[in-house]
Amino acid sequence: MTLSRVPMLNPSQPTPPLNYIPSGVGKADPILLGSDYLQQVRQVAIAPDMIQLPDDIHQRLQINRWIGLHIDRINAQLKQYLTECQNCFKSSQQVAAAVLAAPLSARYGIDAVCNLQTTPATLLIDIGQIVPTDWQAAVVHEYAHAQVGSPGHDQLFRQVLQHLCLGLALPIPPLTLTVEQLSSWPPCQQQTDKFAFWTGKL
Ligand SMILES: [Zn+2]
Repeated sequence: MTLSRVPMLNPSQPTPPLNYIPSGVGKADPILLGSDYLQQVRQVAIAPDMIQLPDDIHQRLQINRWIGLHIDRINAQLKQYLTECQNCFKSSQQVAAAVLAAPLSARYGIDAVCNLQTTPATLLIDIGQIVPTDWQAAVVHEYAHAQVGSPGHDQLFRQVLQHLCLGLALPIPPLTLTVEQLSSWPPCQQQTDKFAFWTGKL
Protein backbone atom coordinates (compact mmCIF):
# COMPACT_ATOMS: atom_id res chain seq x y z
CA MET A 1 0.00 0.00 0.00
CA THR A 2 2.85 2.36 -0.58
CA LEU A 3 1.76 5.38 -2.48
CA SER A 4 3.31 5.58 -5.88
CA ARG A 5 5.16 8.79 -6.56
CA VAL A 6 4.29 9.09 -10.22
CA PRO A 7 3.34 12.62 -11.23
CA MET A 8 -0.31 13.49 -11.51
CA LEU A 9 -1.47 14.15 -15.05
CA ASN A 10 -3.56 17.24 -15.60
CA PRO A 11 -3.88 18.10 -11.91
CA SER A 12 -6.22 20.94 -12.75
CA GLN A 13 -8.63 18.60 -14.53
CA PRO A 14 -12.08 18.77 -12.91
CA THR A 15 -13.24 15.66 -11.14
CA PRO A 16 -16.17 14.11 -13.02
CA PRO A 17 -19.26 12.97 -11.12
CA LEU A 18 -18.87 9.26 -10.50
CA ASN A 19 -22.53 8.38 -10.41
CA TYR A 20 -23.02 9.66 -13.95
CA ILE A 21 -25.13 7.44 -16.18
CA PRO A 22 -25.66 8.42 -19.82
CA SER A 23 -29.12 9.85 -20.47
CA GLY A 24 -31.52 7.64 -22.37
CA VAL A 25 -30.15 4.55 -20.72
CA GLY A 26 -32.97 2.74 -18.98
CA LYS A 27 -31.78 -0.76 -18.30
CA ALA A 28 -28.19 -0.20 -19.35
CA ASP A 29 -25.94 -2.99 -20.53
CA PRO A 30 -23.76 -3.93 -17.54
CA ILE A 31 -20.70 -4.19 -19.81
CA LEU A 32 -21.17 -0.57 -20.89
CA LEU A 33 -21.80 0.53 -17.33
CA GLY A 34 -18.60 -1.21 -16.25
CA SER A 35 -16.61 0.34 -19.06
CA ASP A 36 -18.03 3.77 -18.23
CA TYR A 37 -17.13 3.30 -14.56
CA LEU A 38 -13.53 2.41 -15.39
CA GLN A 39 -13.22 5.45 -17.66
CA GLN A 40 -14.36 7.69 -14.84
CA VAL A 41 -12.04 6.05 -12.31
CA ARG A 42 -9.11 6.63 -14.70
CA GLN A 43 -9.80 10.34 -14.44
CA VAL A 44 -9.34 10.38 -10.67
CA ALA A 45 -6.35 8.00 -10.68
CA ILE A 46 -2.86 9.44 -10.26
CA ALA A 47 -2.22 8.34 -13.85
CA PRO A 48 -4.81 6.85 -16.26
CA ASP A 49 -2.66 3.76 -16.89
CA MET A 50 -2.84 2.96 -13.20
CA ILE A 51 -6.19 1.30 -13.98
CA GLN A 52 -5.58 -1.78 -16.04
CA LEU A 53 -7.46 -4.88 -17.18
CA PRO A 54 -5.97 -8.13 -18.51
CA ASP A 55 -5.07 -8.35 -22.23
CA ASP A 56 -7.54 -11.18 -22.87
CA ILE A 57 -10.69 -9.69 -24.41
CA HIS A 58 -13.04 -12.26 -22.85
CA GLN A 59 -11.64 -11.58 -19.42
CA ARG A 60 -11.96 -7.84 -20.01
CA LEU A 61 -15.61 -8.21 -20.96
CA GLN A 62 -16.22 -10.40 -17.91
CA ILE A 63 -14.68 -7.78 -15.66
CA ASN A 64 -16.63 -4.91 -17.23
CA ARG A 65 -19.83 -6.88 -16.83
CA TRP A 66 -19.06 -7.79 -13.22
CA ILE A 67 -18.33 -4.15 -12.44
CA GLY A 68 -21.58 -3.03 -14.09
CA LEU A 69 -23.55 -5.47 -11.95
CA HIS A 70 -21.76 -5.22 -8.59
CA ILE A 71 -19.65 -2.09 -8.24
CA ASP A 72 -22.30 0.01 -6.50
CA ARG A 73 -22.61 -2.54 -3.70
CA ILE A 74 -18.84 -2.85 -3.35
CA ASN A 75 -18.32 0.90 -3.29
CA ALA A 76 -21.08 1.30 -0.70
CA GLN A 77 -19.14 -1.10 1.53
CA LEU A 78 -15.89 0.80 0.99
CA LYS A 79 -17.67 4.07 1.71
CA GLN A 80 -18.89 2.64 5.00
CA TYR A 81 -15.27 1.90 5.96
CA LEU A 82 -14.32 5.43 4.97
CA THR A 83 -17.11 6.90 7.10
CA GLU A 84 -15.86 4.88 10.06
CA CYS A 85 -12.39 6.37 9.53
CA GLN A 86 -13.81 9.88 9.42
CA ASN A 87 -15.79 9.22 12.59
CA CYS A 88 -12.46 8.74 14.40
CA PHE A 89 -11.94 12.49 14.07
CA LYS A 90 -13.93 15.53 15.11
CA SER A 91 -15.91 16.89 12.18
CA SER A 92 -13.64 19.96 12.06
CA GLN A 93 -10.62 17.67 11.63
CA GLN A 94 -12.10 15.34 9.03
CA VAL A 95 -10.65 15.43 5.53
CA ALA A 96 -12.92 15.22 2.49
CA ALA A 97 -12.28 11.93 0.75
CA ALA A 98 -13.95 9.51 -1.65
CA VAL A 99 -13.22 5.82 -2.08
CA LEU A 100 -13.62 3.67 -5.17
CA ALA A 101 -12.78 0.10 -6.06
CA ALA A 102 -10.44 -0.19 -9.03
CA PRO A 103 -8.23 -2.82 -10.68
CA LEU A 104 -4.74 -1.35 -10.26
CA SER A 105 -2.01 -2.13 -12.74
CA ALA A 106 0.57 -4.68 -11.58
CA ARG A 107 3.19 -2.32 -13.02
CA TYR A 108 2.76 -0.04 -10.00
CA GLY A 109 3.15 -2.84 -7.45
CA ILE A 110 0.41 -1.49 -5.17
CA ASP A 111 -2.96 -2.75 -3.94
CA ALA A 112 -4.32 0.64 -2.93
CA VAL A 113 -3.46 4.29 -3.38
CA CYS A 114 -4.55 7.74 -2.26
CA ASN A 115 -4.62 10.50 -4.86
CA LEU A 116 -4.13 13.72 -2.93
CA GLN A 117 -4.37 15.84 -6.08
CA THR A 118 -8.14 15.45 -6.44
CA THR A 119 -10.75 17.24 -4.36
CA PRO A 120 -11.90 15.35 -2.41
CA ALA A 121 -8.87 13.07 -2.07
CA THR A 122 -9.52 9.80 -3.91
CA LEU A 123 -8.79 6.44 -2.31
CA LEU A 124 -8.53 3.64 -4.87
CA ILE A 125 -8.68 0.12 -3.49
CA ASP A 126 -7.96 -2.95 -5.62
CA ILE A 127 -10.55 -5.26 -4.12
CA GLY A 128 -9.23 -8.07 -6.32
CA GLN A 129 -5.78 -8.06 -4.73
CA ILE A 130 -6.92 -7.99 -1.09
CA VAL A 131 -9.15 -10.48 0.70
CA PRO A 132 -12.51 -8.85 1.57
CA THR A 133 -11.91 -9.03 5.33
CA ASP A 134 -8.87 -6.77 4.84
CA TRP A 135 -10.51 -4.13 2.61
CA GLN A 136 -11.10 -2.05 5.74
CA ALA A 137 -7.37 -2.12 6.57
CA ALA A 138 -6.55 -0.83 3.08
CA VAL A 139 -9.09 1.99 3.39
CA VAL A 140 -7.70 2.91 6.83
CA HIS A 141 -4.13 3.11 5.51
CA GLU A 142 -5.08 5.28 2.54
CA TYR A 143 -7.36 7.48 4.63
CA ALA A 144 -4.39 8.13 6.94
CA HIS A 145 -2.56 9.53 3.89
CA ALA A 146 -5.56 11.74 3.10
CA GLN A 147 -5.71 12.91 6.70
CA VAL A 148 -2.01 13.76 6.80
CA GLY A 149 -2.08 15.17 3.25
CA SER A 150 1.15 13.46 2.30
CA PRO A 151 2.21 10.23 0.57
CA GLY A 152 5.04 9.59 3.03
CA HIS A 153 5.16 7.25 6.04
CA ASP A 154 6.68 9.63 8.54
CA GLN A 155 6.03 10.13 12.25
CA LEU A 156 2.84 12.12 11.70
CA PHE A 157 1.50 9.38 9.41
CA ARG A 158 2.34 6.81 12.09
CA GLN A 159 0.44 8.81 14.73
CA VAL A 160 -2.64 9.22 12.54
CA LEU A 161 -2.59 5.54 11.57
CA GLN A 162 -2.23 4.56 15.21
CA HIS A 163 -5.20 6.75 16.13
CA LEU A 164 -7.30 5.11 13.41
CA CYS A 165 -6.23 1.58 14.38
CA LEU A 166 -7.09 2.27 18.02
CA GLY A 167 -10.49 3.67 17.10
CA LEU A 168 -11.36 0.84 14.76
CA ALA A 169 -9.92 -2.06 16.77
CA LEU A 170 -7.30 -2.88 14.15
CA PRO A 171 -3.74 -4.01 15.01
CA ILE A 172 -1.80 -0.98 16.24
CA PRO A 173 1.49 -0.37 14.40
CA PRO A 174 4.34 -1.40 16.72
CA LEU A 175 6.93 1.32 17.35
CA THR A 176 9.58 -1.03 15.98
CA LEU A 177 8.08 -0.98 12.46
CA THR A 178 10.39 0.33 9.78
CA VAL A 179 9.09 2.91 7.32
CA GLU A 180 8.80 0.14 4.73
CA GLN A 181 6.77 -2.06 7.08
CA LEU A 182 4.60 0.93 7.96
CA SER A 183 3.89 1.37 4.25
CA SER A 184 1.87 -1.85 4.32
CA TRP A 185 0.19 -1.54 7.73
CA PRO A 186 -2.30 -2.81 8.81
CA PRO A 187 -1.28 -6.10 7.14
CA CYS A 188 -3.52 -7.20 4.28
CA GLN A 189 -3.79 -10.76 3.05
CA GLN A 190 -3.30 -10.88 -0.71
CA GLN A 191 -5.38 -12.86 -3.21
CA THR A 192 -3.39 -15.24 -5.37
CA ASP A 193 -5.34 -14.41 -8.56
CA LYS A 194 -6.10 -10.69 -8.60
CA PHE A 195 -8.66 -10.97 -11.41
CA ALA A 196 -10.62 -13.87 -9.89
CA PHE A 197 -12.69 -11.50 -7.76
CA TRP A 198 -13.14 -8.96 -10.58
CA THR A 199 -14.51 -11.72 -12.83
CA GLY A 200 -16.93 -12.99 -10.21
CA LYS A 201 -15.09 -16.24 -9.52
CA LEU A 202 -14.71 -15.57 -5.79
ZN1 LIG B 1 1.09 4.30 2.40
